[in-house]
Amino acid sequence: MNPAGNLSYDVFVNDPPPQDGLLPNGEPKRFSPMASTLIYGREDAVLTDPGLTEDQARVLGDWVAGHDRNVTDIFITHGHGDHWFAAGLLAERFGARVVATAGAIAQMQGGVATRPLLWDKLYTGIPPSPVTAVTVPGNRLTLEGHDLVMVEVGHTDSDDTSVLHVPDLGLVVAGDAIYNGVHMYLGQSAVGGFGPWRQAIDKVEALDPRHIVAGHQNKQLDDDAKRTIEQTRQYLDDADELLRTEDTALGYFNAKIERYPDYLGRLILWVTARALYGVREHPEGNPALIILNSWL
Ligand SMILES: [Zn+2]
Repeated sequence: MNPAGNLSYDVFVNDPPPQDGLLPNGEPKRFSPMASTLIYGREDAVLTDPGLTEDQARVLGDWVAGHDRNVTDIFITHGHGDHWFAAGLLAERFGARVVATAGAIAQMQGGVATRPLLWDKLYTGIPPSPVTAVTVPGNRLTLEGHDLVMVEVGHTDSDDTSVLHVPDLGLVVAGDAIYNGVHMYLGQSAVGGFGPWRQAIDKVEALDPRHIVAGHQNKQLDDDAKRTIEQTRQYLDDADELLRTEDTALGYFNAKIERYPDYLGRLILWVTARALYGVREHPEGNPALIILNSWL
């Protein structure tokens, strides 16, 4: 018997918003594709990480509406605005509640503070983004008798990140703990290194998923858990190696492209390189400010 019974999931990968400027190799700056997951039963559904802009909210919302389910909750994996600034529009359209862990909610408050210094400088059409997310007892939702468990995995691309584990589907919705065919945002590991992120990957692996939906993924690729976990670990190992062998941000940028020619999201690669080398080259500087400025 299929233990999932009436439970299914579907993934929508949104295109990045338009942006001005060029990368060092002459390509236009472009954010990464952003994935949202709809986990649904016969009547109800839970949506994850609904994106950044009004345009993204509209196309995602139309896709959700096509599933003809009652969206009860919208789960946010972590505080970065690309995962939730559009949550209010989706919550209003579907009459849904926004939920997250206490740690992620605190980080969302930080995301609101960062918004005028970063997001609004890069992208237009970001809707009002008050933090309306609430916690739920035990960090656990129930969808037609099935558990959806928020699992805290600590620091990955930011602090206090979490994933959604759906045991009956063998599914982890991994936010930015795991990537899939897209350059990883390592800027906020400039201080402290990748150890905490590796521990987070171990925590995801310990859930023994068959499927992983990465928050940033190439929609041509499957969601095989084993492959995405291995490739996320390898990407961090390669970053450590290149940080030893490359002397400049540009050298790191070019070397990563050579190793990962098919990976999407080279804006994030460039921002990452500027943050990692900026913090290294300015030990007297304020790391948070250097990391912020690496976007601008
Ligand atoms: Zn992200």
